[in-house]
Amino acid sequence: MACTFCSIAAKEIPSDIIYEDERFVVFKDIHPKAPFHVLVIPKEHIVSLIEAKQDHSALMGDMVFLAKKVAEDKGFNGYKLLMNVGKEGGQEVDHIHLHVLASKA
Ligand code: 5GP
Ligand code: ZN
Repeated sequence: MACTFCSIAAKEIPSDIIYEDERFVVFKDIHPKAPFHVLVIPKEHIVSLIEAKQDHSALMGDMVFLAKKVAEDKGFNGYKLLMNVGKEGGQEVDHIHLHVLASKA
């Protein structure tokens, strides 16, 4: 079974992508929990932070800074970053992702 977020990154299933570069895609969450709710994913398939290795530390750091850029570019002075880690942590999609949530600026 293909990974949903890999399929989104490959444009095999539609999504509302607001940013993309060589390593990351940022798209709107299909069931937003805030007026602004996007997901930042690496194009590399990493299941969760549990599976992430020390080698991924630069990628993880850049993922946080991309979330910051996206939120600041939208004019938000504050926002929430959330990462659910593993089934017991509430993670439903097995491709690492960072939620960016904010209210209207
Ligand atoms: P998790 O609980 O894994 O941290 O969050 C997964 C998030 O992905 C949920 O907020 C859910 O609404 C979102 N999501 C799941 N499937 C899709 C999809 O096919 N497209 C988009 N845009 N979001 C999805
Ligand atoms: Zn994937």
